Amino acid sequence: DHPQQNWSKQQIDRAAKDHVVFTYGPTDAQRDAVPLLRRGEGSYLYDDDGKQYLDWTSQAVCANLGHTVPQSVKAAVAQQLDTLPYVYGGLGLVEPRARLASLLSEILPGDLNGFLFPSSGAEANEAAIRIARQFTGRSKILTRYRSYHGGTATALSATGDFRRNFIEDAPGFVRLMDPNPMQFSWGRDMADASERARGALREQVLGEGPDTIAAILVEAIPGSAGVLLPPDGYLQAIRSICDEFGIVMIIDEVMAGFGRTGKMFGFQRFDDVLPDIVTFAKGLTAAWLPLAGVAMRSHIQDHFRTNPLGYGATYQAHPVSLACGYAVVKHMLDEDIVGRVQRETAPVMEAEMASLVEDFACIRQARAVGLFACCDLVSTKTGDRVAPMAGGGPNAEKVAAFKRALKEEGLIAFFRNCMIHVCPPLTITPEELRDGFGRLRRALSSVD
Ligand code: PLP
Repeated sequence: DHPQQNWSKQQIDRAAKDHVVFTYGPTDAQRDAVPLLRRGEGSYLYDDDGKQYLDWTSQAVCANLGHTVPQSVKAAVAQQLDTLPYVYGGLGLVEPRARLASLLSEILPGDLNGFLFPSSGAEANEAAIRIARQFTGRSKILTRYRSYHGGTATALSATGDFRRNFIEDAPGFVRLMDPNPMQFSWGRDMADASERARGALREQVLGEGPDTIAAILVEAIPGSAGVLLPPDGYLQAIRSICDEFGIVMIIDEVMAGFGRTGKMFGFQRFDDVLPDIVTFAKGLTAAWLPLAGVAMRSHIQDHFRTNPLGYGATYQAHPVSLACGYAVVKHMLDEDIVGRVQRETAPVMEAEMASLVEDFACIRQARAVGLFACCDLVSTKTGDRVAPMAGGGPNAEKVAAFKRALKEEGLIAFFRNCMIHVCPPLTITPEELRDGFGRLRRALSSVD
């Protein structure tokens, strides 16, 4: 009875086949693997036949409060639409912009007190890079090989770990060696990893010329790259090198931020790390409307009081998204969502991930921090990692079978390269989380 939701599956499939362009796939041949989703509730999604799927990924690790919108968020969005649906951020100020900035300044540590609001994570990183360049008068940006910072040209140039598909890197980006050894063996031999990384990083900064480097941009815990918890001391090493050479330290919290790691921000898992700039998106509105943020410390904010950044985008500081963001963050605080992750579901996640490795020869290197978890799927015959995105290859059949088994079990899982990501909504209950591991185990058993 909803005027925009009354097409049959056949009508939708036909129109999608004729007119919808998918970006990461599915290709025409893989289309059947993707469910037509009709409805969401809590941690679950339902397809056209009413089949239930547990959302094991929070979609792009962003639907952090699941698929039921709290009344307070609906009311805030409706009220903004009723009173003032849109004002261009460059031409007028609206109340939710001031309120959200004030609230964020309370939850971010130190003097991370100045905010701008782009509409995606990639744009937030692009803005942060521009801020660092304008603030320092330098141009180079140092980022990690194991990283993802977004799909636009500049953000992709900052990214180490993704297919480029016809985009050349922009000039001025320099890649850093990672503290986590490449072969996912980060669980071993990490005792002096941060000292080695500090030495290598300092050498590289000196080699590049410190007075050419605007910023070091890193995820506190690289997410898409495989939830790679850095060794203790690594972020502190970056902080001290940035201090030594007047380099801006930017932490990308687009995926890790807003409770994913069991802290409000991922960098707060490490003592004494106060970045100069923090970027975030996704969880800020629980993905219900597009909104991102760039937080900057006072010394940087002060610079832009007299030297405007000149950053403009039609949807930056969109009033409806801001109203949604404010209501979501307020809801998270009122309901102690992050505390509940830490106390109730993170311990279940840790234990379940650890026992997967014990029970399945094809699972290696389980890592979990809060509800941010990942493990590697390996071939039990050769020990090689199984890489579904590579296409074809000796493991192609196994990968296809595993994906079919996941669908049959009703588990929407993010499976990239050799990695199975486990990032359910932060509102998942311990029982639902255990149920998800049951589904994953059955899918693994059917292909192990
Ligand atoms: N930075 C990180 C760490 C991310 O994980 C992502 C998206 O996955 C982005 C940036 C890009 O965000 P968006 O897709 O909103 O542009």
